Amino acid sequence: MYDVTVIGSGPGGYIAAIRASQLGFKTAIIERYPVLGGTCLNVGCIPSKALLDSSEHYHNAAHKFEVHGIKVKGLEIDLGQMINRKNGVVQQMNGGITYLMKKHKIDVYNGHGSFINKNTIKVVSDEGEKTIESKNIIIATGSKPSTLPGLEIDYKRIITSTEALNLTEIPKHLIVIGGGVIGLELGSVYARLGSKISVVEFMEGLVPTMDRTMGKELQKSLKKLGFDYYFKHKVKSVKAKGKTVTVIAENSKGEDISLEGDYCLVAVGRKPYTENLGLENAGLATDERGRIPVDAHLQTSVPGIYAIGDVIQGAMLAHKAEEEGVFVAEIIAGQKPHINYNLIPGVVYTWPEVAAVGQTEEQLKAAGVNYKVGTCPYKANGRAVASIDTDGLVKVLANADTDEILGVHIIGPRAADIIGEAVVAMEFRASAEDIGRISHAHPTFAEALKEAALDATAKRALNF
Ligand code: FAD
Ligand code: NAD
Repeated sequence: MYDVTVIGSGPGGYIAAIRASQLGFKTAIIERYPVLGGTCLNVGCIPSKALLDSSEHYHNAAHKFEVHGIKVKGLEIDLGQMINRKNGVVQQMNGGITYLMKKHKIDVYNGHGSFINKNTIKVVSDEGEKTIESKNIIIATGSKPSTLPGLEIDYKRIITSTEALNLTEIPKHLIVIGGGVIGLELGSVYARLGSKISVVEFMEGLVPTMDRTMGKELQKSLKKLGFDYYFKHKVKSVKAKGKTVTVIAENSKGEDISLEGDYCLVAVGRKPYTENLGLENAGLATDERGRIPVDAHLQTSVPGIYAIGDVIQGAMLAHKAEEEGVFVAEIIAGQKPHINYNLIPGVVYTWPEVAAVGQTEEQLKAAGVNYKVGTCPYKANGRAVASIDTDGLVKVLANADTDEILGVHIIGPRAADIIGEAVVAMEFRASAEDIGRISHAHPTFAEALKEAALDATAKRALNF
């Protein structure tokens, strides 16, 4: 009998297992794939960032080196090598998680797990069937790509992010359905390698759930990379014939437009994954969006069964799943952990990067909060000028009465790293003036955050 059994080895599951083991629990983890790490490591965060980095090197060599006085002759793309390197990164990290499981004496069961009852799980693999008994069970089964009604993904020409990470040729024209995170990150990879990208988006701008300023700025930057946009367009059909994909979408006037490309990436969100999990045998059901309902302790309606990560409500982010993994293990141990969901940062790894934490301006407006805005354009940042990386800005939203920072939104170089400073500041409930008075090394991209905070404090930015 285990104390804790985790189903799923993504960032939620494997972190939950490690924390449970650290707390002295006899722990097991079940994974249906032969390798550990889940979506994030195998077909998500890590491989996409590996390809984003490689394609950025190529793009810089092709378009940015010359102005730095570097001439390159005979520049070529070896897509096969690019994909192999990405696979190598993933393999290296698969090995890292296997090592961590051994180090923490966590028993790994490879196979598909399903509930027999609330304390018993059956694990089925090619090698046969095993049964595991456990006092507590953590469901961390993650998510899978969603599609649209009537749209059939053929995994060859009409593809999801998983196939887009393993193409054998560079698309001539990649039509991307969905102007969210996946569409823009993977669209950027191929745009940098020379593909024409057309984004068909239902809403009126890119990354529509983020602060609107971010989407507008990103739209301008990606346009320079060769992105075309079809906003407020509703996709009606996607058909593949031979090497051609035809997308028909209806615009806001009710007219149909037709786009032809050689690949279509469907990136319209992800859905929780609970297939063949036997939830009903444990007395569990999913909600109307396929998620497993949990309470404030991330416990399901059945005592002793918990759920975390993409399979429950909230942002589908690796670091959110990780926090929940630690949280649940500590709850089972009788501790009183806390997650501040308002301070989970979100990052889009395009170039420029977009990063955000806290409330958007639209949310503050809707809530009737008396707020003030401070901004700093990267054009006014010495380091950005030196690097010729001046697209974007930092936007600080603060309470107009107390000066407390309520949201930070960054589009620009190194936004993903700079947002960490904003998260720390907000965790300690800093005012805009606090950041404005902290010494920031010069010249750094992070100085743009200081200047935006000074601008929010009392319009007293010093460098623009
Ligand atoms: P998952 O990582 O999905 O892991 C669930 C695991 O459970 C899987 O391995 C699955 O095989 C296993 N499983 C499911 N059912 C069973 C069963 N019955 N028995 C046994 N095993 C089972 N997030 C970020 O924060 N940053 C990023 O940069 C980022 N980039 C992304 C890029 C792409 C292309 C994609 C698709 C996603 C990206 N994400 C990113 C999102 C991130 O991958 C997810 O939020 C994260 O993986 C969720 O973790 P999880 O542990 O909940 O589930
Ligand atoms: P998303 O929710 O970010 O974007 C989906 C987009 O598709 C939205 O803009 C939506 O308006 C649009 N859309 C929906 N239906 C449409 C339709 N019928 N026609 C046209 N557009 C339509 O989802 P995603 O990009 O698929 O990513 C899935 C999840 O993976 C996200 O929740 C994200 O958090 C996570 N992810 C995170 C990262 C990261 O953190 N950097 C990277 C990739 C994925």
